[in-house]
Amino acid sequence: MKNYDLIVCGGGMVGAALAAALGDTALRIAVIDLYKPKLRWPKDSWGIRTCAITRASQHILENVGAWEYMVSRRVHPYSEMHVWDSTGTGAVHFSAADVGEPNLGHIVENRVIQAALLKRLKELSNVDILCPARISALEWGEEQVTVTLEDGEVLTTALLVGADGRDSWVRSQAGITTQGWEYDQTAVITVVRTERHHRDTAWQRFTPEGPLAFLPLGEGRSSIVWSVNPQHAECLLSLDDATFMTELEQAFEHTLGSVTEMAERGAFPLRLQHAKNYIKPRLALIGDAAHAIHPLAGQGVNLGLADAATLAEVISDALQQKRDIGSMRVLRRYERWRKSDNIAMMAAMDGFKRLFGSELPPVRWGRNLGLTLTDTIPPVKKHFIHHAMGMAGHLPRLACR
Ligand SMILES: Cc1cc2nc3c(=O)[nH]c(=O)nc-3n(C[C@H](O)[C@H](O)[C@H](O)COP(=O)(O)OP(=O)(O)OC[C@H]3O[C@@H](n4cnc5c(N)ncnc54)[C@H](O)[C@@H]3O)c2cc1C
Repeated sequence: MKNYDLIVCGGGMVGAALAAALGDTALRIAVIDLYKPKLRWPKDSWGIRTCAITRASQHILENVGAWEYMVSRRVHPYSEMHVWDSTGTGAVHFSAADVGEPNLGHIVENRVIQAALLKRLKELSNVDILCPARISALEWGEEQVTVTLEDGEVLTTALLVGADGRDSWVRSQAGITTQGWEYDQTAVITVVRTERHHRDTAWQRFTPEGPLAFLPLGEGRSSIVWSVNPQHAECLLSLDDATFMTELEQAFEHTLGSVTEMAERGAFPLRLQHAKNYIKPRLALIGDAAHAIHPLAGQGVNLGLADAATLAEVISDALQQKRDIGSMRVLRRYERWRKSDNIAMMAAMDGFKRLFGSELPPVRWGRNLGLTLTDTIPPVKKHFIHHAMGMAGHLPRLACR
């Protein structure tokens, strides 16, 4: 039997960030994942799963020792954002210059974030990476959780963290239920190259069916997140490349000219989901295991990284005060801190999704006016930019420079 202080189930971006944040502490940590992430891939290939990483998340990734390697692999800063409504004239343009920043954030392939975090974990002597591995049973005791792996190995831990994504196995084993609903939308994703350069701008066109985003990458490429109804998604996935590219150009009103190259396509059904509790004795949920939101403002992993940074801070403080890191007294601080921020962001994203999905004339009129007003009133614009950059609210220490 091997004894740990912390076992993280799920070594995705969020789980790995938590372990990295607690690297170089006295804690013995294990990270368990079903899969072994790839560290290398052909230089000319593009991962179709990408994330818009906010400034707050950039600070977290810097402070846990992953950012420098990410930059050496590939990240793309964007300095402008342009959002418009397909049903009217309302549009808003955000610029990094409006808030005196060099950029608004970065678009990064998920695999780059994953590889950088894994590389960092490998450097840490207090972290064991167990993957590929699967937990077959959990036994909740007063002082510890006993974790049995499928190969028969038995581990114990003072705290188990569920970072195993939106269909979290740990969450269901802990009997924690979720609330939420299906969006009746599927995000079709790919990476394209366009005739005209994206000008380091994140573009988003809202249609009643769903938003279409072109997010800037290197070499004039853009990451596409096209949210449509599930039948339309199926149809888009079945098209040959040339026809899909033509459909995409039309849906984007030829804003960047024609689409000249395209990677493979993928699809993700979208849902809003929130765990009723983030904690129970000796357990905490972080990232998508705790909350899944619509990707329209690219906030999902940013919320997850804030969870990881906050939980790391709560655990570090508890260690200093010689408290039991798996106790409810310690974990309640994490839940209180993150739940309110996450609910506020989820409500905002859900509200935007509904607002832009409505075809009622008064709603259309109101949202177009809202976009125009946001664009023309500098304090309102700055407020939005600070929120979008993750710099508002009660930030954990790791999210500060
Ligand atoms: C189309 C799309 C676009 C998006 N764009 C953005 C964006 O621009 N910005 C943004 O912030 N967010 C974005 N998101 C959201 C973001 O991808 C997620 O919030 C993020 O991936 C969550 O990270 P996670 O580590 O919590 O979970 P996951 O990424 O789901 O990772 C979970 C990990 O747990 C492992 N695992 C699963 N089950 C088990 C098990 N039983 N045992 C062990 N390991 C297990 C998996 O192998 C995986 O490694 C987007 C999402 C979608 C669908």
